[in-house]
Amino acid sequence: MAIVNLGLIVVEAVGYFSLMVSLLHFRHRLGLGVFMTALGVMHFMETYLAAVFYVSLPFGVASPGSSVFFAGKLMMILMLYLEEDASTVRQPIYGLFLGNLLTVAIAWVLQLHDTVEISPGNAADFSFLKEIGWLMVWGTALLYLDALGIILLYERLGHWMKRKVILRFVLCGFALLTFDQIGFFGALHYFLDVPLAAFWDGWRAKMFAVCIYTALFAIYRLCIHRNGVPAAARSLSDLFGDLTFRERYNDLLERTGRDILTGVYDRSRMEFEAPVMMREALRQGQFTTVIIIDADHFKDVNDNFGHLQGDEVLKSIAARLVTILRSADRVFRFGGEEFVAICPGTDHEEGLLVAERLRWTIETSVRTPDARPVTVSIGVATADEDGVSFMTVLSTADDRLYRAKKNGRNCVFGRTGLVKVS
Ligand code: GH3
Ligand code: MG
Ligand code: MG
Repeated sequence: MAIVNLGLIVVEAVGYFSLMVSLLHFRHRLGLGVFMTALGVMHFMETYLAAVFYVSLPFGVASPGSSVFFAGKLMMILMLYLEEDASTVRQPIYGLFLGNLLTVAIAWVLQLHDTVEISPGNAADFSFLKEIGWLMVWGTALLYLDALGIILLYERLGHWMKRKVILRFVLCGFALLTFDQIGFFGALHYFLDVPLAAFWDGWRAKMFAVCIYTALFAIYRLCIHRNGVPAAARSLSDLFGDLTFRERYNDLLERTGRDILTGVYDRSRMEFEAPVMMREALRQGQFTTVIIIDADHFKDVNDNFGHLQGDEVLKSIAARLVTILRSADRVFRFGGEEFVAICPGTDHEEGLLVAERLRWTIETSVRTPDARPVTVSIGVATADEDGVSFMTVLSTADDRLYRAKKNGRNCVFGRTGLVKVS
């Protein structure tokens, strides 16, 4: 029977890994929220299983909840960090931490209810609600430390074995899950007299799970996802600052690179940030579309209504641009009444659709003080087909904007000329 249980554990680990890594791999298409939500949802089941569901394995008694799913989650957090960065991975870390505390608080309040049996034999499980108490708070605090620890250790190991990603992965898994086992069973042993043998059984099951995950990770790395991992050029204290939301530098940058009138990013920010965005997208084999937008006959708006009214119109244009573009896109004020949008991961066709949507939205929603529509002309170019340096792509987009103006304004020009409105 122990062998059958072991076989099932392997099937569970392979299933869990395959699904979660698929969500991670296709995150640009699905959105990262899908991966993060799946990770959060799984947490509840794994906590429940770790409390009550134990099976016998050839090397002792263990719960798939902690060996397969908890260990899996920690490895997924590390994989998310490898694919993205510290400021992304801290989102599930804090989400799980705060969500667990909320669960404990809600369970505590729920126990105060006087409940009614809705059908015979279907009473609320109060013992379960009571179990979601201090042990869950302790587990939650440990998970938080595990998640930060696994990333910091991974980077630390990078000093000695930069290229050995798989070795670092397995060592981090061993170290942090051992730490977790000591922390969690320490509490169980001290407060609930759980025998020490359970510690070793659980520990062996977690180490077994780390081995399976590392084998799957190696297959994924070598066969499917061949890109090298970004080398960590940053110091551990910097990384720790990101993980714990202490980003003074980024925070300062966020506030300094803004255009005072419209609130979008300013031109100096564009010159430093846009080439980086474009390089990063190219490195991942993705297109980046650059959209340049210029208000039509804007001098007339100023001449007829004064500069202050003109400023209000500019603010409305900028606000429309920001709402229509995705969060990964960036809008910069390029000049007086010109804006540039950078859309990573967007090919030329999609970029033209976005541009047309921007043009249409402004035409139909921004008005001069005498209620006439304000229109814009737009030029669109895309890396890498229109060039690989940001300046080349921008200047191509600018040429197309010029052609849009010559064509009579209030239109979008792309690689094949005027974009027809369907
Ligand atoms: P076209 O569409 O053909 O380009 O016509 P245009 O009138 O928009 O021409 P142009 O782009 O040369 O003129 C831009 C005008 O935008 C000139 C300037 O008065 C106005 N402008 C630039 N910056 C600001 C600003 O911050 N506030 C206001 N109110 N107007 C500005
Ligand atoms: Mg202009
Ligand atoms: Mg203009």
